[in-house]
Amino acid sequence: MVIAKQNSNWKKTLQLLSTKIDNHTFESFFEDLTLSSMDDNQATLIVPSPLAKQFFSLKSDTSSMLLNAINQVFDSHLKKISFLTNEESNALKKSVETNVRPRENSNVKTTFFSNCKINKNYTFDNFVVGECNREAVRASLLVANNPATAYNPLFIYSKSGLGKTHLLHAIANYYLEKHPKANVLYITTDAFIDEFVKYCKGNQEDISMREFFQDVDLLLVDDIQFLSDKTKTAEMFFYIFSSLINNGRQIVLTSDRQPSDLRGLEERLVSRFYMGLTVKMNTPTTDTLIEILNRKIIYRGLDIKLFDQDGLAFMAEKFSHNVRELEGALNRLLFALSSNENKYISLDDVKDTFSFLKGIQDSKKKVNEDDIISVVGEYYHFDNESIKSKDRRAQVAIARRVSMYLCRAMLSSSFTEIGKIFKRDHSTVITAVKKVEKEIKINNEMLNAVNDLKKRIKAL
Ligand code: ADP
Ligand code: MG
Repeated sequence: MVIAKQNSNWKKTLQLLSTKIDNHTFESFFEDLTLSSMDDNQATLIVPSPLAKQFFSLKSDTSSMLLNAINQVFDSHLKKISFLTNEESNALKKSVETNVRPRENSNVKTTFFSNCKINKNYTFDNFVVGECNREAVRASLLVANNPATAYNPLFIYSKSGLGKTHLLHAIANYYLEKHPKANVLYITTDAFIDEFVKYCKGNQEDISMREFFQDVDLLLVDDIQFLSDKTKTAEMFFYIFSSLINNGRQIVLTSDRQPSDLRGLEERLVSRFYMGLTVKMNTPTTDTLIEILNRKIIYRGLDIKLFDQDGLAFMAEKFSHNVRELEGALNRLLFALSSNENKYISLDDVKDTFSFLKGIQDSKKKVNEDDIISVVGEYYHFDNESIKSKDRRAQVAIARRVSMYLCRAMLSSSFTEIGKIFKRDHSTVITAVKKVEKEIKINNEMLNAVNDLKKRIKAL
């Protein structure tokens, strides 16, 4: 099997397992497993520690779950897995391609931050651009093309799960494509704090931390908000930051808030964060989220035609605040349906998968959207076709809005689904539903009508 294909299947296997196993166990024993080799009969895996080897040898049910997952993803019929520790597999390990960009080319000595690697999977190519992040992507590309010229530092902030870490790695990958020998360092602020503490304890005598940073051409620092209240570490950071900027090296920082909201950080550091360019990323719109889902599905090598777009729209609406959670939801969906590989994934399948979420009705519900329209029609004296039509008379428009509102409130139908029924786009539906929501707060007559209608629909 081609190595790239093998790697992508292995990644899929881990993704599959991550949805099956609790987070803690997964992170402790599975996340760092690598596939060393595979023949017709068995797979050889490299475990991160002797403890992990022991874990798998003792837990036969976990090993067989692993074996099943491999057979499922690789479409194989292996009977056995063997586990080797790093030492045991030293010779083999060299031949295993990983998804992590090695630092051998770089002159940066690996005395510090040996765990902070650049993830090749996070690129500009697979980052979906929408209004929410256009400015941040543009600035990141500018910086990756011409570091340390216009915007230094570049400071990107947003709520969690909106792509900050992805963008930092994208900048690193892009720059390294053009300058393979450059010293690009991606670090998390947590790692910086840990390294600084270790350094102060005197474990790194051979090279000073300041010297280490002198060679860095491009420094990417993730989640700088964690520097708050770490006075001594922040002082070291200030020194490193200033000397890199003074020496014409680019710095990109991310944070979950804007610099002025970083409490417990010295003013001189905060003001330096503003020296370059500060950009905010916002929550993506439903359309952008749907596009992200599409791209993630294609990126995994799956056939997008097997996914009902209404199902994806449904997920985008349910997991609208955080792309990481949306990705988790996609993992859950793929896992739930993974036993049947080439099956079409319909809106009902999606709803079934997420039926545990509050407000999502069983897809085999008795009442459907047309039933609701009939009840509303009867109430306002219009037939279903007029309610769905383009008729703009005020009373028909009210009946239409109320129908949309009730479909949303009682069936949790997605805006896109409702839009299809009324032959309108989902933003029109959102406006209509919001209008009714507003009206029932201030208009008693409307509130009574809606309550009355709900009772009638429940009685169906
Ligand atoms: P943050 O660092 O802001 O918390 P991450 O960069 O870790 O967020 O993003 C969380 C997940 O969402 C990642 O897997 C990332 O690839 C994905 N993601 C976020 N925004 C986008 C986007 N616009 N296009 C593609 N993937 C995205
Ligand atoms: Mg992050």
